[in-house]
Amino acid sequence: MSTASRSRFTRSIASAVLLALLIGAPAPAPAAAAPAPVAAPAASAPFTAAQLEAARSLRERCLVDDTGYETLRSLTREVGPRSAGSPGDARAVAWALAKLRELGLKNVHAEPVTVPHWIRGTCSVDVVAPWPQPLAAVALGGSVATPDAGIEAEIVPVTNLDELAKIDSTRIAGKIVFYTGRMARAADGSGYGRAVTVRGRGAAEAAKRGALGVIIRSVGTDRNRLAHTGGMRPEAGDIQIPALAISNPDADLLEDQLASGQPVRLRMRNTSSWADSARSANVVGEIPGRERPREVVVLGAHLDSWDLGQGAHDDGAGVAIMSAAAKLIGEAPQKPRRTVRVVLFANEEFGLSGARTYARDHGAEAEAANHVFGMESDLGAFAPVGLHARVPADRLPAVRAMQDLLAPLGVEYRGNDASGDADVGQIAALGVPVMDLDTDATEYFDYHHTANDTFDKVDPALVRRNVACYAVLAWLAADYAPGFGRMPKGR
Ligand SMILES: [Zn+2]
Repeated sequence: MSTASRSRFTRSIASAVLLALLIGAPAPAPAAAAPAPVAAPAASAPFTAAQLEAARSLRERCLVDDTGYETLRSLTREVGPRSAGSPGDARAVAWALAKLRELGLKNVHAEPVTVPHWIRGTCSVDVVAPWPQPLAAVALGGSVATPDAGIEAEIVPVTNLDELAKIDSTRIAGKIVFYTGRMARAADGSGYGRAVTVRGRGAAEAAKRGALGVIIRSVGTDRNRLAHTGGMRPEAGDIQIPALAISNPDADLLEDQLASGQPVRLRMRNTSSWADSARSANVVGEIPGRERPREVVVLGAHLDSWDLGQGAHDDGAGVAIMSAAAKLIGEAPQKPRRTVRVVLFANEEFGLSGARTYARDHGAEAEAANHVFGMESDLGAFAPVGLHARVPADRLPAVRAMQDLLAPLGVEYRGNDASGDADVGQIAALGVPVMDLDTDATEYFDYHHTANDTFDKVDPALVRRNVACYAVLAWLAADYAPGFGRMPKGR
């Protein structure tokens, strides 16, 4: 072993131990963990030894830096809730412009976006019979108001939209439909997709059958007495009826009352309203590339949040993680060849206005072609566990080399089936290769869209680990000499 490779060996053992301490994994025994001496890469290797070493040292730097966590503290403390079109939304845009500049990003600017503006009022749900009591409820985003006196009617329990479709409409007309389906807890968050359909279309489908209003069991996995809000997915021609979510324990109570065999009557009230569409903005900042600054790797997150909590995990964490990753890339000894661009999207929650506007404004052929890669963080600041790519097959060796550097952080390779997620997915549809970094979402849907999505629920060590992952991926993607090429357009 040469002196040079010995010192590299010693350094990598030291960093493996440090890493193990940081992520709470058992520290490797020096003998067992001895890596092979770093050999010169084969001619076909996607990255040079120098590139990999630069990324590795960036990873180590990120694992001891709290810029991400402190950025999230600043956002939740100084802005708080920031739903589309609200005063908090405007404050968030101003905050983001100042914060990205403070973090040393360049070309920081706002790109105007028109957003829908729904205003939450107050709401209540009370059991009137057989055993009167109040329930914990929130309005779903976009719900219309009830008459002042509220709506009082018998409830009809329905598991989901499929079951609704099979029920004779005469049983629905004049009633309140109660969607009872439960969201399943899962590390990959897969219960959400199945459960959320009633939030999107439950009211519209019930209205077609003559329902007066809709109550849904919260789309969430917790047993707190807090209901989960979230946007409905209105379509042209929908009949609009009020739609509220009740907490999981309250949904259990209603099911218990129904199990008595007696009719259950509810009174629901809601005073939310729609205002004219409002101005918001995508906030953009960059670490310019050293060789090809016009070519950009996009790091996306959404700046808006629901209004009940502080939007800490959803998606303040993504905002903080991506901003910190860019800052640390900017401070690295070697800037990557291409530009790393942070895009903090307006209004993801209520129809992807920011991402759609970005894809439209940057979607002309030449400019779209300069978008060479994209990633998004919008699954909370939880442990990163898996990496998906969507790249041409001949670029997969580069993906595997990138994932290798994240393996000590617990990230496995999960396939060439990434979507880009909600916002960056709009850019992926232009043919831009993307990656998705899965987090362990087991707990995410306990907090998601509730008053409990607050800063205290976020673990600083997991913020650091996410920052390290995105910084490594973004640095290597932006420095990858051949680039990732293009994918077919569309989703
Ligand atoms: Zn989100």
